[in-house]
Amino acid sequence: MISTSSRPRSPWGKLDPYDSSEDDKEYVGFATLPNQVHRKSMKKGFDFTLMVAGESGLGKSTLINSLFLTDMYRDRRLLNAEERITQTVEIIKHTMDIEEKGVKLKLTVVDTPGFGDAVNNTECWKPVADYIDQQFEQYFRDESGLNRKNIQDNRVHCCLYFISPFGHGLRPLDVEFMRALHHRVNIVPILAKADTLTPNEVEHKKRKIREEIEHFGIQIYQFPACDSDEDEELKLQDQTLKDSIPFAVIGSNTVVEAKGRRVRGRLYPWGIVEVENPGHCDFVKLRTMLVRTHMQDLKDVTREIHYENYRAQCIQSMTRMLTRDNVTDFTIPAFLPGIDVETEKLLREKDEELRRMQEMLYKLQKQKKNC
Ligand code: GDP
Repeated sequence: MISTSSRPRSPWGKLDPYDSSEDDKEYVGFATLPNQVHRKSMKKGFDFTLMVAGESGLGKSTLINSLFLTDMYRDRRLLNAEERITQTVEIIKHTMDIEEKGVKLKLTVVDTPGFGDAVNNTECWKPVADYIDQQFEQYFRDESGLNRKNIQDNRVHCCLYFISPFGHGLRPLDVEFMRALHHRVNIVPILAKADTLTPNEVEHKKRKIREEIEHFGIQIYQFPACDSDEDEELKLQDQTLKDSIPFAVIGSNTVVEAKGRRVRGRLYPWGIVEVENPGHCDFVKLRTMLVRTHMQDLKDVTREIHYENYRAQCIQSMTRMLTRDNVTDFTIPAFLPGIDVETEKLLREKDEELRRMQEMLYKLQKQKKNC
């Protein structure tokens, strides 16, 4: 019999599949696998990297602070108008460890100050695209190296792209940015400062933006399809989420009093707009999607699609280069006389590792030549 003390306990108490020793007699025990995974993940903690892009003043930092109830931009220096038009796009990383009910999350926010602020914004998405590629490259290099156990994963899992509420739908720069990045990162479009629009205007702008996204062939993050056997409530939730794109949000770091309640909101002479009131904006929907329901999917899509695309391109170009330079064989002979099986296995592993490193070296040399 499996002793109850030797197996990990369920974090869900009575939902533990073996919460009595009677049950233990009847089962082998693999239903505790989710508990084991849970335990391991809790120990390790979670990480998530979120990028925010869009021109200055659209409320990016305010929204991030409202989303994670933090003050991530404490040290930010605001530029004056003159500095802004000459500034080039910068990439700034803010990292914060947050903990909720014992669950640790290392949250990294990658900001792109200067994006869209210059007089000439030609290719101003390039530093952002380069940054995302560099993170993939670093991961690829680490993965092919010797110390694969302790890889630091800085890949960007999601990019919130802020669209101005004052334009007529998407601007050429928005289209250019999203088209340049949609194969690199999960883009979630945001209609900024929704409180500056009437509900009808919000609906109209959302529809227009959705049509333009389709028209320009922009591939934004797709919520995974709901299974047909999923319950109706979940299906409805899923559909509402899909229909909300682009999320019309309001950000505020001030707490105001509304009908006797203290709420996060913006105070106007005619009343209060509440950030977390679903009747006022999509803030709660966005937060639910980002944190409660789709964080893992955003990470999975990053790993399985965007990173795999990058990796496939790298391997393709390396293969082309190796064939061109006639480098065809790194491997050791199939049979090594006088060596026992264990040593041979180890040798082959090391050989494989060396091969990968050599490939990386070729790639780096090529890059250097191109510079
Ligand atoms: P960022 O440059 O995109 O990071 O923008 P900030 O977060 O610094 O916000 C710029 C200004 O817009 C600040 O004065 C904010 O208080 C204000 N702001 C932020 N979010 C909103 C919003 O949802 N609605 C309105 N009306 N103003 C906002």
